[in-house]
Amino acid sequence: MRVCPAGPVLLKCVRVCCRRGRGRVPRCVREAWGYTHLLARSLCFNSLISWDVVNDSLFEPVFWAADRLTRWFGRVFVCLVVVLTSSIVLIAYLVLLPMVIHTYAPLWIVWHLCYGHWNLVMIAFHYYKATRTSPGYPPTMKNDLPFVSFCKRCVTPKPARTHHCGICKTCILRMDHHCPWLNNCVGHFNHRYFFSFCVFLTLGCVWCSISGRNLFIDAYNAMEHFKALEVEQPGVPVKGVGLLIGIVPPEAMNGQSSYQTPPPTFTYKEKLMNKSVIYMWVLTSTVAVALGGLTLWHAMLISRGETSIERHINKKERERLTKRGKVYRNPFHYGRLNNWKLFLGVEKRSHWVTRVLLPSSHAPHGDGLTWDFPLRKKEPLPV
Ligand SMILES: [Zn+2]
Ligand SMILES: [Zn+2]
Repeated sequence: MRVCPAGPVLLKCVRVCCRRGRGRVPRCVREAWGYTHLLARSLCFNSLISWDVVNDSLFEPVFWAADRLTRWFGRVFVCLVVVLTSSIVLIAYLVLLPMVIHTYAPLWIVWHLCYGHWNLVMIAFHYYKATRTSPGYPPTMKNDLPFVSFCKRCVTPKPARTHHCGICKTCILRMDHHCPWLNNCVGHFNHRYFFSFCVFLTLGCVWCSISGRNLFIDAYNAMEHFKALEVEQPGVPVKGVGLLIGIVPPEAMNGQSSYQTPPPTFTYKEKLMNKSVIYMWVLTSTVAVALGGLTLWHAMLISRGETSIERHINKKERERLTKRGKVYRNPFHYGRLNNWKLFLGVEKRSHWVTRVLLPSSHAPHGDGLTWDFPLRKKEPLPV
């Protein structure tokens, strides 16, 4: 690092200023002023300064607060995921599955029962593994492993694809991002669990949303009808039929007047059931869309052999080399199919079932420290 030539001059100026003001200003104020003055001058005249450094310095308190909040909210978010998922599972057991059993043909009932339970097991397994599996850390002891840079915060060498997490306060092997919903970093050893959790949760939400669509329409109409009944005066004939539950008296169904009959009302249980169905459909549909988009984004990154962080780094590098008339090539891109096989840990054909479609705790390819797989594009793995 070069020493700023203005440093000694600045120090001299500060000393002169302090000497002039001695006797009139308290010493602590003079020292604080001197430090601030020196800091401002060094920020403005340091030869290593750039707008990136200034921006980073200005936003450092914001990043610090965000890191602290994310760390604190991590456990709250995990509880939220567990509570919301459990509530949807409960509603599915109490409302959705009984409806399927009473309305569908036997083959469809078997399909819904098998698919629903398989999906639930896959969600629970991958979420548990994603939160409990360590993402992988670089060794702190002296070693001969190749490294590409040095972490200023951990004061340790960083292997390729390793990045520092400000929330975990450590370096993570092949770091993708810090996920508050897992309260864990997503790195080399738990990236597959995170991605599979996203895939199976999206599928589960799509299943709930499609299967519960008619229930939602019935419940919504019934609730709207109930609201209309509340504002109507007694003696007004009742029209319309609630599809989920029988709320219309037989007289009204036969076109007869119901002036003599008091307006029918919902029981507490019926209201609760209707509201639960509406809650389930709205939540699962929203999550299906939002999480589906995130999952597709991660699938695209995996196909390209990139992590979320590398996406930004590679983009900058690509633009820089394009300006020089060169083409950037991602050294960790082994071809789409090979990238997926490496990511999912598929080594033979049967692994697509046993390691992808069933719960599996196998470790990923490699140790996360070196990336010299003998693979290139259009050279598929020997499967
Ligand atoms: Zn670090
Ligand atoms: Zn982290």
